[in-house]
Amino acid sequence: MLQLQNIAKSYAEVTALKGVSFKLKAGEVVGLLGPNGAGKSTLMKILTGYLKNWEGEVLYGEKNLRDDIKSIQQVTGYLPENNPLYPDLYVLEYLKFIAGLYRIKNASFEEIIEKVGLSEVRHRKVNTLSKGYQQRVGLAAALLHDPEILILDEPTTGLDPNQLIEIRKLIRQLGEDKIVLFSTHILSEVESVCDRVIIIRQGEVVADQSLESLRKGQQQIIQVEFDYRIETEALSKIDGITKAVNTFDFQYELYCTGQEDIRPKVFDFAHDNQLKILALNQKNENLAELFNQLTA
Ligand code: ADP
Repeated sequence: MLQLQNIAKSYAEVTALKGVSFKLKAGEVVGLLGPNGAGKSTLMKILTGYLKNWEGEVLYGEKNLRDDIKSIQQVTGYLPENNPLYPDLYVLEYLKFIAGLYRIKNASFEEIIEKVGLSEVRHRKVNTLSKGYQQRVGLAAALLHDPEILILDEPTTGLDPNQLIEIRKLIRQLGEDKIVLFSTHILSEVESVCDRVIIIRQGEVVADQSLESLRKGQQQIIQVEFDYRIETEALSKIDGITKAVNTFDFQYELYCTGQEDIRPKVFDFAHDNQLKILALNQKNENLAELFNQLTA
C-alpha cells in the first residue's frame, strides 16, 4: 500500500498542493483527474522522488519516501508527461540504453516488448514511430525493472482513437497486479480505464470514489411535460424527488438521487392531479456534469 499523508508543495508564490492524502493499493487503476494546473504533475513528481522540498509523508509499506528514496524508486516506474525519448535510437537499443542508465540487470526486454505490443517495430528508430507507438516505448522503459508502482502522467495525450483503445487496455492489464496512478484532465479516460477516481482542484482532493459508487450516486433527472401548469412545490413532494424546476411553460425537471425509477410515481402524481403527461424523459446526470460541478 502506498500512503500519501498531507502532501503540500509550493513553488515560490504558487501553492501547488495543499494537504493531499489518499492510499493506493495494487489491483486497482486510479485516475488522478483535474483541470490543468490542479497539481497533478507536481504530485506525481513528488511520488517519483523527482521533486524535493515538500511537506507531508509518503509511505510504502514500512518505507518512507524521505528516508528510503532509492529503494522506493527501485520499485517505481514513471512515464513523464510528454514522454521524452531519444529519437535516433532504435526501439530495442533505446530500451537497452535506459536499462544501462539505471543499472537494471536481467531486464526481460523480449517479454516487455511483447507485452506492450512493440514486437513489429522493435527494429525501427523511435522517430519513425507514431505517437501511440512512442507512448508504448515510454511505457516499456517504465516497466524494465518490473515496478510495483506505476506513475503515468497524462499517458494518453495526443493518441488517436485506435491507439487510445490499445493503451487503455494495456494500462488496465498492468493495474491487475501493480499500483497504477495515472493522471488526466480528460474525464472519458477515467471512465474507460479506472476503478477509482481522485479529483483534485487547486491542489486539494475534492472527490475520491470508486467509479461504481460515483455512478450509483449519480443524480437522475426526469424531464416531464404536462398539459397544464402545476406548482413546483407540489411536484417536489413526490416521494424521492429532491427538487423540481419549471423549465418552460408546462415543462419541468425533477431531480432525484438513488437508482429507483421514479417515473411510475410521476404517472401516479399526474393521475391523482388530473394532469396528462405529454412527454416524459429520464436522463442521468453524467460524470462530466459531476466533474464540472466539482472542479468549477
Ligand atoms: P497539472 O499537472 O494538474 O496541470 P501542475 O502540477 O503542473 O498541475 O501545476 C500546479 C501549479 O503549480 C500550477 O499553478 C503551475 O503553474 C504551478 N507550477 C508547476 N510547476 C512549477 C514550477 N516549476 N515553478 C513554478 N510553478 C509551477
